[in-house]
Order: sequence, then C-alpha cells, then structure tokens
Amino acid sequence: MIDCEVNVAKSCTELTQILIEPSARILAGGTDILPGMRKNSIIKPITLIDVSQLNELSYICEHEGQIDIGALTTHSKLITSPLLLQHAPALIDACASIGSTQTRNRGTLGGNLCNASPAADSVPPLLCLEAVVTLSSHDNQRQVPLSDFIIGPGQTCLQQGEYLSHISFAVPQKHTGTSFMKLGRRNGMSIAVVSTSVLICIDQNGNIEYARVAFGSVAPTPILSHHAETALTGKTPSAQLFSEAAQTMLTDINPIDDLRASREYRLHSAGVLLQRALQTACHQAEMDMR
Ligand SMILES: Cc1cc2nc3c(=O)[nH]c(=O)nc-3n(C[C@H](O)[C@H](O)[C@H](O)COP(=O)(O)OP(=O)(O)OC[C@H]3O[C@@H](n4cnc5c(N)ncnc54)[C@H](O)[C@@H]3O)c2cc1C
Repeated sequence: MIDCEVNVAKSCTELTQILIEPSARILAGGTDILPGMRKNSIIKPITLIDVSQLNELSYICEHEGQIDIGALTTHSKLITSPLLLQHAPALIDACASIGSTQTRNRGTLGGNLCNASPAADSVPPLLCLEAVVTLSSHDNQRQVPLSDFIIGPGQTCLQQGEYLSHISFAVPQKHTGTSFMKLGRRNGMSIAVVSTSVLICIDQNGNIEYARVAFGSVAPTPILSHHAETALTGKTPSAQLFSEAAQTMLTDINPIDDLRASREYRLHSAGVLLQRALQTACHQAEMDMR
C-alpha cells in the first residue's frame, strides 16, 4: 500500500500553493510515479497533488505559427490530433509507441518529460522540433529549451514550487520530413533499447537545408547528435550520406550495458535505425515538394 496524503488541486493557483511544500509531488497520470513509489525507486513524497481535474492543462492548439500542448494532455489525445498529424507526425508515432492503450489513456506528455527517463519516447521528436517548455510557479513563469530541461536520468531543472504547464514548438516549415523509430525487445509494450527521431528540411535544389537528429536510450538523457546534423547539412540525400552520418553520430552517443541490451548492440542499432529514419524523413520531405 502507498502511504501518503493526496490533495486534489482544483485550479492552477491552488496547485502552486500546495507545491510550495517541499515534499509535495505532482500526480498526473501516475504511470511513472506510482510504480516508482511501489518499487521504492524514488523518494516517497509526503503529499501527492492530484492534478487530474485541471482540464485547462489538457489541450493542443496552434496560434501564429506556434503549437502549444498542455502538460496534462494524454498520449491518447496526442495521437488522435489532426493538427499534430499534419505538423508533427513523428511525435504521434513516438507517443503511439508508449505502453498500452491503458497507459496512453492515463500517461501525459508533461509526465513523460518530467520523469526524465533516458528512454522517454516523446523527447527525441520534441528535441528535433526545438521544443520549449514553460515552467510556472505562484509568482513566476519561465521558458526553457527542452534540450536544457532534462539534466540527467530522472532529473530536470524544475525548481521547488514550479510545475510544467505547457510545451511549445514552431510549426515546421514546408518541405520538411520527420520520422521516429524505436527498437525494443519486442514489438509492443516495450521500453526503447534505442530510439531515434529526425527532422529534415529539403531546399529547392533537393539538398538538405537543415537537419535535426535525436536519440533516446544511448546517453544519460535523450540527446541531439550535432555531428550527424553537420554531416548532413547542405548535402544531397543518398544511402552513402546516411551511412556517413551514422558513423559520425557515434561520437555523440555513449550507451551503457543494462538488462535490456549491451553497449555494443546499442551502438550498432543506433546506426541502423538512423539510416532508416533518414530515408523515411527525406522521402517525406521530397513528397512535400511535389
Ligand atoms: C506499462 C507501462 C509501459 C510504459 N511504456 C513506456 C514507453 O514505451 N515509453 C515511454 O516513454 N514511457 C513509458 N512508460 C512511462 C509512462 O507511461 C510515461 O512516462 C508517462 O508519459 C508519464 O506520465 P504520467 O502523467 O503518468 O506521469 P506521472 O507518473 O503522474 O508523473 C511522472 C513524474 O513527473 C512529475 N510530473 C508529472 N506532471 C508534471 C507537471 N506537469 N509538472 C511537474 N512535474 C510533473 C511527477 O511528479 C512525477 O515525478 C510506461 C509506463 C507503464 C506503466
């Protein structure tokens, strides 16, 4: 049995008032925090703040070329969003790969980011989109690039009294293709052994104008591979180029051996996945030009 007090926040103002208490932690969908408390793998909070009634933090909208997603938006809601299907299909693929239907019905995007797992599936596509998170407290609001938000396994730059209110990114420009690929130990209900997401923008001459390459499960946090991005930029897409990018990327990742896979297997798989992801994203970007 989990022994702690649960307070239900009825408004964001009430949430920030309760969050001032040092041992209070947010309970969103509970799919990470409750198993963690049962297994004693996290420090048990004295107070849990149930935020499930804060419907104002569950939305997906577009305004002046920017997409905003409320932190309490569930994965199930994300994967049925026509707006995200049009502008962020890799994020949809990533969220669709999380757990089971039941997990996706409860689990939220904000929870996936704040749990800060190196294997968090929503993070690589959001890194490619250069997402920014908005952190709110009773007297302040600040924006942090997602690439600076997760600072270690299970660690974020959230400060005492702050919560993640929403995630934002610019609508990708035209001629852009994206993809997300994940390798697990089985096809469904599997935590990533390696995941990758790429975003490619093709110019009028058919060259790669802009590339973003991100990985999960190959470093203490999900990461961008700046070496692969540089290797791709300005070049014509080809199998040879993708193979070179996969070699260059190895300088950016540092996977570990664990119960899911060995370091060697992850190094090899990351290269294979990246080449496939680049092929898919470039094909999409080229189709977008027709
Ligand atoms: C069976 C199963 C399979 C899973 N498979 C996958 C998978 O394949 N890929 C994957 O990435 N994840 C997977 N997960 C993990 C999980 O479902 C996701 O990380 C989920 O998105 C977490 O969201 P939540 O709302 O449940 O978070 P919670 O468990 O409620 O919270 C997680 C942490 O974030 C904090 N938090 C939550 N929301 C906020 C906020 N707005 N502001 C500040 N702090 C906040 C909480 O205090 C807690 O520390 C799986 C989980 C289960 C149980």
